[in-house]
Amino acid sequence: MLQSARTKIVATVGPACGSVDKLAALIRLGVDVFRLNMAHGDRTRHQAMFDAIAAARDQTAIDIGVLVDLAGPKIRLGDLFAGDLDLAIGDQVDFVTGTITRSSHELTCTYEPLVAELEVGQQVLLSDGLIRLQVTSKTDDRAVCRVLDGGVLRGRQGVNVPGAHFSAPAMDVVDLDNARWAIAQGVEYLSLSFVRRPEEIIQLKEMVQAAGGHSQVIAKIEKREALDCLDEIVKVTDGVMVARGDLGVEIEVQQTPIQQKRIVAACRKYGKPVIVATQMLESMHTNRRPTRAEVSDVANAILDGADACMLSGETAIGQYPTEAVTMMNRIMLETERAYPDREEAKPTPEPTSNITRAMVQGAGRIARQLSARAVVIVADSIAAARYKSQTRDFIPTIALSGHRHVVRGLALYWGILPYYADPEQINGLPKIKAFIAERAKTHWQLNDGDRVLLVIDSPDNIGEHDWMTVLTVGRD
Ligand code: PEP
Repeated sequence: MLQSARTKIVATVGPACGSVDKLAALIRLGVDVFRLNMAHGDRTRHQAMFDAIAAARDQTAIDIGVLVDLAGPKIRLGDLFAGDLDLAIGDQVDFVTGTITRSSHELTCTYEPLVAELEVGQQVLLSDGLIRLQVTSKTDDRAVCRVLDGGVLRGRQGVNVPGAHFSAPAMDVVDLDNARWAIAQGVEYLSLSFVRRPEEIIQLKEMVQAAGGHSQVIAKIEKREALDCLDEIVKVTDGVMVARGDLGVEIEVQQTPIQQKRIVAACRKYGKPVIVATQMLESMHTNRRPTRAEVSDVANAILDGADACMLSGETAIGQYPTEAVTMMNRIMLETERAYPDREEAKPTPEPTSNITRAMVQGAGRIARQLSARAVVIVADSIAAARYKSQTRDFIPTIALSGHRHVVRGLALYWGILPYYADPEQINGLPKIKAFIAERAKTHWQLNDGDRVLLVIDSPDNIGEHDWMTVLTVGRD
């Protein structure tokens, strides 16, 4: 357990890995969080997937997290008039209002005001940006477009209009219903697609709070508008996803790497976990081995400071989901050996009056001085382990909690090994010591004589980690 990668793996579920046994296999290979994409499927399917994940979690006894990904204001084409449409440069194709098409060159979409809000001269990207249109003229019920880049168009594909400021709400009735369902299921993470403003994240967080849920809210950054107020979004959100699929269509694709680095840096600055997503091992949809460029992409995301890397189609619909997870884990382990901060002295932490933050951040340095093998934090909330994760300290950190939602809620955090204990087994220092002594060798690969730094809250100061002690395996 202490030898697993510090960087976390998020894997999208789908038909390629949907059975309990396949999900359990992926957990054993290193998946920390499963993503359920609400853009596809209906409630029956989502519930079946969620139940399968819960069963796989029980089978493996590993507390992975679940991320429910809300579709948000993504615009999709309606069904096409006569199936797939081959578009050539110079062709004309029209967006029309309503849901009915009368010829193969008419298109409808899921966003009713699109025709009204499009402007002459604007570009419309379809099929992940492969097909490019330009609006040449408009009437009340029609936007006439010319094809700039052609290709085969399919119904229900995404529609992106780079730079446009649409009036669609952050969450429609379907998103709200899916959010209520996810909170009721107790999912650990709830991500919102196409975030534009911090208020949208605040709205979802308030919804979670009002429902008495524990879900942490993740902002998917994939619009220019979000990049324009990045710091404000990062400050209010619990975590971020660099959603490179749509981001690379909404902005010029060559700007994506620099924006990715900028987003990761902002998350590191504000201490928020960040997932780098999409096409990380894309070629493994159909190949057992990734390309060199893909391996470098994963490694660079780790070196930049990402908390997690995400697999999308690779695990959801690809031919080699287990190979993709195995490969991602291998790249992580190898890259982490060269992690920039690994052996260097840590930067002096910012002054803080928060005792928990100071204690857990200091714990890593003390552990290093004492050549301790691990830090154990006993906690009733995610806060202490979250601060520890921010230090990017290589001392393995076990977050021990008697609350399932805390254990699973830490699945996304870099370098943290969340571990559940029956609350009675860790009630008070003597029991905590006994619990660590019992698990040290059997579960955490520690040996007699290994030192462990324990950080807890003292009995007269519950909620603040104000107490630290050194344990020696086989002696204490
Ligand atoms: C993305 O666009 O990169 C993304 C993660 O979102 P989705 O997979 O929902 O399109």
